[in-house]
Amino acid sequence: MNSIYGYTREKLEAYFLSKGEKKFKALQVFEWLYVHKNSNVDTWSNIKKELREEIKKDFSFETPKIIREEKDTLTRKYLFELKDKEHIESVIMFHDYGISICVSSQVGCNMGCAFCESGRRKKVRNLEAYELVTQILEIEKNLNERISSVVIMGIGEPLDNYENVLSFIRIINDAKGLAIGIRHITLSTSGLVPKIYDLMKENIQINLAVSLHAPNDTIRNQIMKVNQVYNISQLMTAIKDYIAVTNRRVTIEYVMLKEINDSSKCALELATLLHGLNIYVNLIPYNETSHINLSKSDAKTIKEFAAVLKQKGINVTIRKEFGSKISAACGQLRSKEVEK
Ligand code: SAH
Ligand code: SF4
Repeated sequence: MNSIYGYTREKLEAYFLSKGEKKFKALQVFEWLYVHKNSNVDTWSNIKKELREEIKKDFSFETPKIIREEKDTLTRKYLFELKDKEHIESVIMFHDYGISICVSSQVGCNMGCAFCESGRRKKVRNLEAYELVTQILEIEKNLNERISSVVIMGIGEPLDNYENVLSFIRIINDAKGLAIGIRHITLSTSGLVPKIYDLMKENIQINLAVSLHAPNDTIRNQIMKVNQVYNISQLMTAIKDYIAVTNRRVTIEYVMLKEINDSSKCALELATLLHGLNIYVNLIPYNETSHINLSKSDAKTIKEFAAVLKQKGINVTIRKEFGSKISAACGQLRSKEVEK
């Protein structure tokens, strides 16, 4: 049975039309689910009893369960158990402007980046749209607070689960869904070039973040297998086209790995590569993980790297290290659970 939480409003409208009902029933259902957060169909007073029975017969309402929680001052990490006993995680961060969530898009990841715990554990399957939506719903319930921004940067490569991730974005962005502003939704990809082209045709104003992590193919090939399929030149062309079509600034993510990609020569090369583009660079201090033999760059090296970029006219920020105490790097908590 299909979970109702995976239905966009459009798809739900089609369902009601097929039952000979008015399509605005979909809007009413969205309000019950996402505004009132009430999944007890029997109490949906504006829907007649016979139709409520049909809805109960046609949809499931179950959600993944939170089975572990790790807390830090400004972050919390949740481990979810899915119905097939697989595990995924979500991290929330408390900012002065609200609460953001980092959601997972797959169980594991097949991209195999050398530095990443999620990639070390191959993809088991894609998450269904409802398993993305309910990460937010369950955590909002747990916190009793509203989440105002979403980054798709947890376990998995979102563009390798394209249709479900797009349904997810449409559901949470719906004004009668979770009403999360489209500009408050960020999708991070390791660089699946054809899917970046698909995404630019969707006409949605999300933030796109691209995990570049290296200024040239020699280094990128060493740390990201995807580069052997779509190299930097192809990726940069896609990024330029994306900016031209959507008129949106793109974020370039760059994880700082000691003595791999953190020299000032790398910074200069990166500045040349990105020169003149509507982008900004987010330098990510590497979160070390016990199974991977890579180290984080020193704070001083990161500052110097940022200074070189700035001096060359590139906008750059250094990501705050939010959750290093709580195994916050993507996939670390799931890994612990698998190893038990
Ligand atoms: N698969 C997508 C999104 C999930 S990973 C992608 O790769 O973009 C989200 C970000 O976390 C990526 O930029 C990734 O390179 C980075 N990342 C992965 N492991 C990390 C770690 N241990 N420390 C810091 N950043 C990490
Ligand atoms: Fe997958 Fe992203 Fe991790 Fe690479 S960094 S293995 S693409 S989750």
